Amino acid sequence: MGPGGSRDAGAAPGRRVVLATRNEHKVVELAAILAEVMAELDCEIVGVGTFGDVPDVVETGVTFEENALLKARFVAQATGLPALADDSGLAVDVLGGSPGVFSARWAGRHGDDEANLRLLLSQLADVPEAHRGAAFVCAAALALPDGRTRVRTGRFEGSLATGPRGEHGFGYDPILVVAGDTRTAAELCPAEKNARSHRGIAFRALGADIVELLSDGAG
Ligand code: IMP
Repeated sequence: MGPGGSRDAGAAPGRRVVLATRNEHKVVELAAILAEVMAELDCEIVGVGTFGDVPDVVETGVTFEENALLKARFVAQATGLPALADDSGLAVDVLGGSPGVFSARWAGRHGDDEANLRLLLSQLADVPEAHRGAAFVCAAALALPDGRTRVRTGRFEGSLATGPRGEHGFGYDPILVVAGDTRTAAELCPAEKNARSHRGIAFRALGADIVELLSDGAG
């Protein structure tokens, strides 16, 4: 909001916020989660792929927050526009929060969902149900070209099944039994998962920061 509480300098029509992902599915998902915020600011979310020459960031952080901030800062600097980024993964209680930031490459090869899931299940084969607590965690970050940043986290709690179930989703969805439910995350329909997920929680929390920082005309 402007000084008088009205929508003004920060809300120029056609303003863009860049999401630091090349995954168009994520752009659509985020546009839905932040629809109200974006409408209030007259902003649209575009993927970083819109800017052909922005290189990928190497995720050198050891926490979700660090990696999300790293990506958001980099894209804000590269494009001169406000940038959003997320970093997420699975945190298993008995593994002290691992695979954590290594979730996508737990079995060695980046993005091999099936190998990651199989390795994790074998590592936990002897762990009884009472000790199979886990959560998907997401850090969502906002960075402005002037250097200001905000980061929020969200958790999607559950426990690990002994075998995969369900057809939806990706990654470790088939083995996380959702807290308070009998279904795995892969047995929830996409809308149901979005409403409860770590990503939804983190980005909805970041919504207030986006409104605050972008309403003063910054970025
Ligand atoms: P990224 O932050 O989207 O790169 O996700 C990192 C990795 O964490 C993914 O490759 C998945 O293995 C895991 N992960 C993150 N979010 C989810 C989820 O919602 N469901 C299942 N796996 C997830």
